Amino acid sequence: MPDSTPDSFRHQGLRQQLVEEVRKKGIRDVRVLAALGRVPRHAFLDNVFTELAYTDQAMPIGSGQTISQPYTVAFQTELLGVEERMKVLEVGTGSGYQACILEEMGARVFSIERQRALFHATRDRLKEMGRKIKVFFGDGTLGLPAFAPFDRILVTAGAPSVPEALLEQLKIGGWLVIPVGNEEIQKMMRIIRISESEVESETFEDFRFVPLLGQEGWRAIR
Ligand code: SAH
Repeated sequence: MPDSTPDSFRHQGLRQQLVEEVRKKGIRDVRVLAALGRVPRHAFLDNVFTELAYTDQAMPIGSGQTISQPYTVAFQTELLGVEERMKVLEVGTGSGYQACILEEMGARVFSIERQRALFHATRDRLKEMGRKIKVFFGDGTLGLPAFAPFDRILVTAGAPSVPEALLEQLKIGGWLVIPVGNEEIQKMMRIIRISESEVESETFEDFRFVPLLGQEGWRAIR
């Protein structure tokens, strides 16, 4: 069960320490740091992990999935360069934590998850929290054509390659942030759609995500 205890002074204090830790690791965007300081990460975790919620670690969230490490969330969010009112698609809702950070940045967030149990639990949690994030069940490697195009797309699972459908659903001038590599390690990439048919890409540091499964992801019998 998610921790239903309200946000206490203790949680807030621990969260400020976490923000400081993430800042020291190199995240400089003050809007990202402020968002990290506002979202109660403990509320996305099982009670047994409450004590660890404000350490800079990934944590299990059920269905064999994880909530990303806060540094990773901050890194991806910073690269995404979200501005107020932008339409953002997240692939891999998981716990919903990253989606809340995006909403705190002022984005209109659409998020898609392929694990049914996780989708239901997270949709309910976000609703209870009063969040406006729109959560969908399905294969996010195919994007969300009914709501495209997006200003930004963020993939929070490790991809074998960049899904075509996601590039197609980016606005011209839109940005896609996605970890690409093998199942063990991925390089963070930022791809900018500069015209109908051209993209520019940049490569950043290594990360380790759970696999992006699906038609344009890893084909797995899972
Ligand atoms: N952003 C999440 C972390 C998610 S871990 C958070 O803040 O908690 C990656 C998630 O991607 C997992 O929940 C996994 O089930 C999901 N996933 C993997 N492949 C997917 C796909 N093709 N479409 C949608 N979700 C996918």
